[in-house]
Amino acid sequence: MTPLDEVREHVRSRLPQASPATVPFDRAGGLVLAEDVVAGENVPPFDNTAVDGYAVRAEDTAGAPCELRVTGEMAAGAGHTETLQPGCAVRIMTGAPLPEGCDAIVMVEDTERTGGPGDDRVRIMWPVKPGDNIRRAGSDVKAGDTPLRTGTYVTPAVQAVLSTVNARTVKVWPRPRVGVLSTGDELVEDGSPLKPGQIRESNRTMLLRLVSEAGAESVDLGIIRDDEALLESALRNAVKDLDAVVTSGGVSMGDYDVVKAVLSRIADMSWFQIAMKPAKPFAFGMLGTERDGTRTSIPVFGLPGNPVSSLVSFELIARPALEVMMRRSDSMTGRRRVRGIIDYAVNRGHDGKVHFDRCVASFADDGRLHVRRVDAQGSHQLASTALANALVEIPDGDGVAEGAEVWVTLLGEGVAQW
Ligand code: AMP
Ligand code: MG
Repeated sequence: MTPLDEVREHVRSRLPQASPATVPFDRAGGLVLAEDVVAGENVPPFDNTAVDGYAVRAEDTAGAPCELRVTGEMAAGAGHTETLQPGCAVRIMTGAPLPEGCDAIVMVEDTERTGGPGDDRVRIMWPVKPGDNIRRAGSDVKAGDTPLRTGTYVTPAVQAVLSTVNARTVKVWPRPRVGVLSTGDELVEDGSPLKPGQIRESNRTMLLRLVSEAGAESVDLGIIRDDEALLESALRNAVKDLDAVVTSGGVSMGDYDVVKAVLSRIADMSWFQIAMKPAKPFAFGMLGTERDGTRTSIPVFGLPGNPVSSLVSFELIARPALEVMMRRSDSMTGRRRVRGIIDYAVNRGHDGKVHFDRCVASFADDGRLHVRRVDAQGSHQLASTALANALVEIPDGDGVAEGAEVWVTLLGEGVAQW
C-alpha cells in the first residue's frame, strides 16, 4: 500500500503545464491571473464627493454656523460643471464631480436648508477644512499602477477591480475541460424499473458537479458498458480535446475491471492501493494523443466505483490536482485541512491505513471546530456520507479518544439541519 501523500506527490509531479489563456474579465472569476494587471486609468477617474451635501469653499465656513446661497446642483454622472462663487454653495450628491472653485464638501447631515423660492440658502453648522469629504482622482488606483499581480485569485471583488481599471481582457490559467465517465454494465440512468442485478448510476452525477465546483469545466462522457472496445474508443475520443478525464469504477481486482484492462494498454498508468479507507484502489496516468501534429498527454484519474470511495478519492486527490492545474495555492483551494475536536471515541485496529471518517463539522460555543460521525460508514452508503461536510483522519493504530485533536478536511459548506 502507498501512503496518500506519496500518491498525491506522484500525481502532482506528473501534471501537465497548461498555457495561459486570454479571457474577458467577466469570465475570469475563480481563476488565477497569469499576468500583472496595469491600470490604464485613474480610479476614481476624477475628483468627486464622498457624501451627499454642499460643495463649498472651506474658508467660507470658518465662521460656522453661517448661511451660504445655493446656486446650483450636481448629481453623480453630471456631465456639466457648476462654478462656485465666493459665499455660495452647490448642492451635490455622492459621486458627482466637484464644481469649479470648491475645495470641501459639507455633509447634508451638518446643514439645514433655509431661504425660500428664489432665495435658496443653506445653513452650515460646522466649519470644514480644505479636502474634507473629497475623493481624489487616482486615490484608489493610479493610472500606470499594478493593482493586481500575477498569481492573484480572481474573487468577485478582484473581478470588480479588473472592471474599474478597465482591463477588458486578462490572461489567466484556464479552466481545464474535464471529461467524466462511469463504467459498469449494472448502471441505469433513465429512471426505468431496475432489472435483476441493476443499480442506479450515481457517481457520474456527483463527479460532474464536483468537477465544476472545483472550478474546472465538466464534460459528460456518459456511462460506458464494461466493454473494452467501447471504453477504448470513448477514451481516445475524449483525449482529443479535453484536458483531463475522471473515470469511476473498474480499477480494482475484479475480472470485469475494464478501466484497468484498457488504460494499462493505452496509457502510461500507475495502479495504487492507497493506505487509506475508504478509497483504497486508485489509478493515475497520462493518456497520449496527437494534437495539431504534436504529441500531448492528459491526466486520467481512475476513481473506484463505490460511491463513497469515488467521492473521497476525488476530494483528496483529483480535486487538489485540478487546483494545481489552475495554479491555485493552498489559500485559494476549495477545501481546507484544519484541526478539530473529535466528539466521539474511535476504537480501531492496526491495518496500515488511515481511516477517513465522514463527519459533520461545526463550531461549538468553545470557538473550536467539533466533529461527529455520520451514522453509516460503509463505502456504498452514500446517503449518510452525503450529509457529511468533513473527512476526519483517524491514523493507523488503536484509535482516538473522545475530545482529542484530529485533522479535518472540510468539504465545502455545512449541511443545514433545521
Ligand atoms: P467497481 O469499482 O466497478 O468494481 O464498482 C464497485 C461498486 O461500485 C459496485 O458495487 C458497483 O456497482 C458500484 N458502482 C460502480 N460505478 C458506479 C456508479 N457510477 N454509480 C453507482 N454505483 C457504482
Ligand atoms: Mg464495475
